[in-house]
Amino acid sequence: MTKRSDKGDHPRPPLGKTSEVCSFCGRSGREIGPVVEGPDGVRICAGCVDLCQTIIKQERRQDISGSTTPESVPAPSRIKEFLDQYVVGQDHAKRVLSVAVHNHYKRLNHIEDNDTGVELDKSNVLLIGPTGCGKTLLAKTLSRVLDVPFSIGDATTLTEAGYVGEDVENILLKLLQSADYDIEAAQRGIIYIDEIDKIGKTSQNVSITRDVSGEGVQQALLKMLEGTLANVPPQGGRKHPEQQYIQIDTKHILFICGGTFTGLEDIVKKRLGRQLIGFSSEDHADESAAEHARVMEMVQPDDMVEYGMIPEFVGRLPCITTLGPLDEESLVKILTEPKNALVRQYKRFFEMENAELEFHPAALKYIAHRAMKLDTGARALRNVIEDFMLELMYELPEADANGQRYVVTEKMLVSGRKPTLRAALVRKKESA
Ligand code: ADP
Repeated sequence: MTKRSDKGDHPRPPLGKTSEVCSFCGRSGREIGPVVEGPDGVRICAGCVDLCQTIIKQERRQDISGSTTPESVPAPSRIKEFLDQYVVGQDHAKRVLSVAVHNHYKRLNHIEDNDTGVELDKSNVLLIGPTGCGKTLLAKTLSRVLDVPFSIGDATTLTEAGYVGEDVENILLKLLQSADYDIEAAQRGIIYIDEIDKIGKTSQNVSITRDVSGEGVQQALLKMLEGTLANVPPQGGRKHPEQQYIQIDTKHILFICGGTFTGLEDIVKKRLGRQLIGFSSEDHADESAAEHARVMEMVQPDDMVEYGMIPEFVGRLPCITTLGPLDEESLVKILTEPKNALVRQYKRFFEMENAELEFHPAALKYIAHRAMKLDTGARALRNVIEDFMLELMYELPEADANGQRYVVTEKMLVSGRKPTLRAALVRKKESA
């Protein structure tokens, strides 16, 4: 097979010569761009190659979902094991999600051989936890273990139809796109909706251009959560009367919603009232974090309603789980342990230059400490470490790092000056 190209020393026919016709779509001339030529004068254009790829992907996906028998649905413990490779801590949330997702799969299989007469309800999940504690990461990692289409939407961008902002159907469009427009696959996917607390009725997000109460958005989302035949505009944006819609049935889509629900703790405390006596109120940081976690574990659907969520909406999120804030020790683990941990990534860059990079444990603690101060959970880690590593990464590609060993210490970081390769150089690598 040869690729037609106008590069090279030999005179070749120009790309998309008028005589070249794609054997698949029949188009010819310059409009078809580069072509790949097979035996016996068969040609295929770039557009048809893309199309073939999409078809093959869809076929493969159908093979996978078709082969998922109740026995082959990954057990909750297997799902959790996978989550453990990427997400630090949050054990309870991992268990809840693993069970919810396992049952979701079983339910899908059950629909196909629906002869038991028992209806299995969908268990959408609500994750409550502070910013940067791993809510989105959990949902994203789940979609990887399951190899199902997955999309993330942000509730704050959504509005009731007719207001300025996005229609809720756009969340479905994203899912459809992640499924390469395979409607069947999208209808079995997972959608994560972030910042769900911001559409509470009592939300302070007052704006004259959007549905100020948030209730309309909740109603629109409620329909999707319950299961509806939604009309999705294929181009996105606002719905337009002339557009042809794609219909998606949301009945079997698993929804995971996440939010910080600031202030919910006070509502729970108020409800618990006297029962709370015995909880320590010392303002020691660890004590108050532990108390916060204990209180949040007692969240009931009623508290969510008091917070401003409509009861029907809360009713559609039967699994409520709370994630705790991450402490300094967890942040150090996040820096080093997950498969895609930032420290591992930096080490890999140095390995590519046949060099070695090491972080002193105290340096890692210092990075975690700095990140904690920013109050955005593990989200801050990337900014902090990238800032510290800037000079090293700037110099590395052009330095003669071959066979060298570099160590980042706490002292370097505390000094306020960004560590340089010179400062971090220790000695030759042992193997060099
Ligand atoms: P949120 O809870 O606000 O949805 P995210 O899940 O988006 O937070 O976390 C932001 C980033 O912080 C993630 O991409 C990940 O790199 C890191 N992170 C947060 N929590 C964890 C965790 N428990 N384990 C590993 N990394 C985490």
